[in-house]
Amino acid sequence: MGWQTHAACRDTDPELFFPPSEDDTSTIVARARIAIAPICGRCPVATECLRWALDTGQDHGLWAATTPTDRRAIRRARLAGVPDPVADAEPMCSGCALLFPMPSVDGALCAACIERSA
Ligand code: SF4
Repeated sequence: MGWQTHAACRDTDPELFFPPSEDDTSTIVARARIAIAPICGRCPVATECLRWALDTGQDHGLWAATTPTDRRAIRRARLAGVPDPVADAEPMCSGCALLFPMPSVDGALCAACIERSA
């Protein structure tokens, strides 16, 4: 995992990212999310981190500020064929609604938007 050498959390207490609660709705997890948000927010490898956590099925910890519940939801959406703009890091079509962004090439509209605008 070469991306880890560039992680903004490299010198941070790992316990912040592994709160002692499995309950995503708990105050403990909420506090941990607030604490790590600025760290993950400026992390240059957040996309790689989230992709790795999704691809390896990490069921514990806060990866790229996502909880296990967040990641399960992203994985379910992936299985349903919904592209994820963060995890996939593909350029998204600016013409699609944010709810269902489609990949595009070089910032161009996706095929569906081109067809709709024709
Ligand atoms: S996104 Fe957050 S958890 Fe992931 S490597 Fe960066 S700082 Fe660490």
